[in-house]
Amino acid sequence: MPRYDLHCHSTWSDGVLSPGDIVRRAAAQDVDVLALTDHDEVGGLAEARQAAADAGIALVDGVEVSVSYHEETIHVLGFRIDGARPALVAALAGIRHGRDARARRISASLESAGIDGTYDDARALAGNEELISRAHFARVLVSRGVVRDTHDCFKSYLVPGKPGYVPHAWPALGEAIAWIRDAGGSAVLAHPGRYRFDADAMRGLFAEFRDAGGEGIEVVTPAHTPKQYVEFATLARVHGLKGSVGSDFHAPEESVMDLGGAPALPEGVTPIWSDW
Ligand code: AMP
Ligand code: MN
Ligand code: MN
Ligand code: MN
Repeated sequence: MPRYDLHCHSTWSDGVLSPGDIVRRAAAQDVDVLALTDHDEVGGLAEARQAAADAGIALVDGVEVSVSYHEETIHVLGFRIDGARPALVAALAGIRHGRDARARRISASLESAGIDGTYDDARALAGNEELISRAHFARVLVSRGVVRDTHDCFKSYLVPGKPGYVPHAWPALGEAIAWIRDAGGSAVLAHPGRYRFDADAMRGLFAEFRDAGGEGIEVVTPAHTPKQYVEFATLARVHGLKGSVGSDFHAPEESVMDLGGAPALPEGVTPIWSDW
């Protein structure tokens, strides 16, 4: 069975390895098919494609689009997209454009909790000045010794109700799915178990996602427990959606799963790659 890892990040978003280093690390971990899925950005795909050809693994051109849905931020993965499609390129540029002002607001919010000057530090850490993410702020707080590690950070900072959280309007779910489909890709709902929805709201999300043209949900991800792998595999099947697998790898020191470290998809759900 080929090993799939369909979710990871490079320095083009909030990962710490270049696209080439991501691909080589994945190849060393016996990944056969890798999707690079940077947040709101496809700039790393060209380097990743070259590295994948050199390493002899298959690269899936991917992206992870930020979306606002019912007061929650959710993420939609796009697989096998044409990253040069003008409508997608323009849409992603628009999303990135809003991130700098958001980063300044995050910094101001942390300042009101007595933590000064984090914008400059986060921006210096970011490999892509258009893409400052909360992960960069988390790394700043770790390096200053404010928190022990990034996991610790997201308990006390940067999340709703805590310092460093600011509301932000991302695009709508239907827009994100439409951009991905227009670019020839498949839309997959990332890490659904992370969203603060009850069972009813989750069913509503899956139905709306499928009706808008979504094809699958991420089933195996470090955001889920092994029990949730089975639950989300069942939910996917019930809603006529396929299943996906990804490590969501960001950094060797931070990530729960290394590249290729996600277990196989449970039985009973159609893999998103079944017709690739
Ligand atoms: P942003 O897109 O700027 O809102 O940042 C979201 C990113 O922050 C995610 O993709 C992760 O890299 C990181 N993140 C969010 N929540 C957590 C968490 N609980 N633990 C670790 N990293 C997190
Ligand atoms: Mn991230
Ligand atoms: Mn995500
Ligand atoms: Mn991700």
